[in-house]
Amino acid sequence: MTSFSIHGVGVSSGIAIGHAHLVSNALLEVVHYQLPKHLLEDEVLRFSNAIATVKHDLEQINNNLRKNAPAEISAFIGTHLMMLADKSLSEIPKDIIRNEQCNAEWAIKLQMDDIVEQFEQIEDEYLRERKQDVIQVVERVIKVLLGHPSQLSTEQQSNALHEERKLILVAHDISPADAIQFKQHQFAAFITDVGGVTSHTAILARSLNIPSIVALQRARDLINDGELIIVDGGLGVVIVSPSKEILAEYKLRQEQWELEQQKLQRIKSTKAVTMDGTNIELFANIEVPEDIAAVKASGATGVGLYRTEFLFMNRREMPDEEEQFIAYKTVAEAMKGAVVIIRTLDLGADKQMNPDTIVTCANPALGLRAIRYCLSEPLIFHTQLRALLRASHFGNIKILVPMLSTLSELRQTKLFLERAKASLRKQDIPFNENIALGGMIEIPAAAINAEAFAKELDFLSIGTNDLIQYTLAIDRADDTVAHLYNPLHPSVLKLIAMTIKAGDKLGISVSVCGEMAGDSKLTKLLIGMGLRQLSMHPSHILSVKQQILHSQLSELNGNARKVLAQTDLEKIEPLVAKFNLI
Ligand code: PEP
Ligand code: MG
Repeated sequence: MTSFSIHGVGVSSGIAIGHAHLVSNALLEVVHYQLPKHLLEDEVLRFSNAIATVKHDLEQINNNLRKNAPAEISAFIGTHLMMLADKSLSEIPKDIIRNEQCNAEWAIKLQMDDIVEQFEQIEDEYLRERKQDVIQVVERVIKVLLGHPSQLSTEQQSNALHEERKLILVAHDISPADAIQFKQHQFAAFITDVGGVTSHTAILARSLNIPSIVALQRARDLINDGELIIVDGGLGVVIVSPSKEILAEYKLRQEQWELEQQKLQRIKSTKAVTMDGTNIELFANIEVPEDIAAVKASGATGVGLYRTEFLFMNRREMPDEEEQFIAYKTVAEAMKGAVVIIRTLDLGADKQMNPDTIVTCANPALGLRAIRYCLSEPLIFHTQLRALLRASHFGNIKILVPMLSTLSELRQTKLFLERAKASLRKQDIPFNENIALGGMIEIPAAAINAEAFAKELDFLSIGTNDLIQYTLAIDRADDTVAHLYNPLHPSVLKLIAMTIKAGDKLGISVSVCGEMAGDSKLTKLLIGMGLRQLSMHPSHILSVKQQILHSQLSELNGNARKVLAQTDLEKIEPLVAKFNLI
């Protein structure tokens, strides 16, 4: 197998070496075509052969399973073998081929749809979910029929099954709703054909602290299931079937990278203070309460952004007040009095409740998203605010409102908050009467008018991911324009500077909680511009802290002024790089 490399956009650094695990969309590739009568028996034979190949593969995996392999793996393969042996999958598609004069892929897909529909009628949830096994088995058969069977040797397959850590997920695209589920898996890396640097999927990759690359264009087509690949998240390069020499070189680099990470651990308990004594607050961004373990391990002094929408994903029903209350309270209590900034629901655009939700409007990022959505769904908003207020009794919770663009949205939000407070008072349920309310500055209109917002809020948090998207008119999730997405664009920097100035004038704190905060190449610029609070994924805290410990604020202020005075992006980049050397 010859080695080759594919270039994309690295969204989470680090090096992973492992076997490709293709998230198949074989089912999507199935086309329907008619066959002349005289070819039907050949098609039936092709189908029988595919079934036999899959059966053989599964048996081989089962035989090669190590003695100490978890029992579930063997049971799971056994279930697949049983399904494959069942007439409904191994025989009925033959009749369909003959009766409908269609291709084998189409026949088994039709039969699968029928079986899945029957499973969906089952009341018992566990049994109902077995439909996934049917889908997986059929996927295997279709892959063989389409001519791209798994390339894993049977030994590799059994190894990979219980050494999940060494698997690299290769997908055309991964929705945020899918990615959040990876938190329960242990993939070594993930790579996708499409996606932008600050898409929510990329953000989740960073929160998983595993290397990942997006915008690889055709990785899923070029890489075979089970192939050995190297993912260099820092450089945005995937090396497929590396030679012995390249593999050895990368193993060395991987060790060096891990050593660097370990070295950073030394400053975990050190305060983030510049050389001239200014303290910078380093907070963590989280998506689910389980992330608190990583927050603690990172040395972050608070939670600067809890994206609550992930609690609402991959489910049919919205979480009720009690479920939300428990999630928020869990985080507040775990942080033991440290600040926990919880953002109200930011659903919409690329964050849909389910991966298969069809977005019907033309510009979902400009549509009914975040606070706009909440204000149009009074019950959902009221429920969340009550849950947040109740949880505020158990820790240092502050509320953050996303996507504000007008003061009237803010005032309506305050009315909702007052209503939620009144309802709790009526029931004698305790909450923090003086709970702080902050607003996200992530729409240019809000940044330009930041002073007006600062007058009516307790703190501001700059969401640079969206601020860049909306300022530069670049869809943050679209890889075709990813090269134009630049946090150093002079207009973006000016909007950040305006927001900082407004906060200073009104004496309220301003932080950055977008991905810019976690990019250690930008730390000196951001604190030079006057920021004293940054919130990022826990995995970035130490590299950002290291920059702060090596900073002279007096110098950085002057440097930042020079950067802000520059109107040409091409000159800003080298200027920032030069100042980082100091
Ligand atoms: C942002 O837009 O920068 C932000 C922090 O919010 P999100 O990434 O969740 O949209
Ligand atoms: Mg945002």
